[in-house]
Amino acid sequence: MNDCLFCKIAAGQIPSTKVYEDDDVLAFRDIAPQAPVHVLVIPKKHVSGWYDAKDESDALLGKLMRTAAAVAKMEGVVESGFRVVSNCGADAQQTVKHLHLHVLGGRAMAGEMA
Ligand code: AMP
Repeated sequence: MNDCLFCKIAAGQIPSTKVYEDDDVLAFRDIAPQAPVHVLVIPKKHVSGWYDAKDESDALLGKLMRTAAAVAKMEGVVESGFRVVSNCGADAQQTVKHLHLHVLGGRAMAGEMA
């Protein structure tokens, strides 16, 4: 999508601090980290949210989750623990309408999911 921030990051038109990249997915550091480890994992192809995902996206969505786990390993938070979050819609405070996973770690999380 032309005006999508994460599409522009995926295309290299806006800089990011990359953690991992392949043909399908990109992982990069969140610009406003909420934890010592805060990495975003996105599909390079534009998918606006979970309800926009089609059957053909199943493999891609699975890869997104596996990439989140791989990122946790790369960032050294598998033993200490990590959280994977995906905000969907206004109440969840999704601000970027391009499907993404937050990988958070490096500190003890609060009991609630935020
Ligand atoms: P969400 O609120 O779940 O839609 O998450 C969007 C995330 O994107 C937020 O945590 C922002 O801090 C992050 N973000 C926004 N702009 C950038 C950027 N240019 N580079 C990296 N992360 C960004």
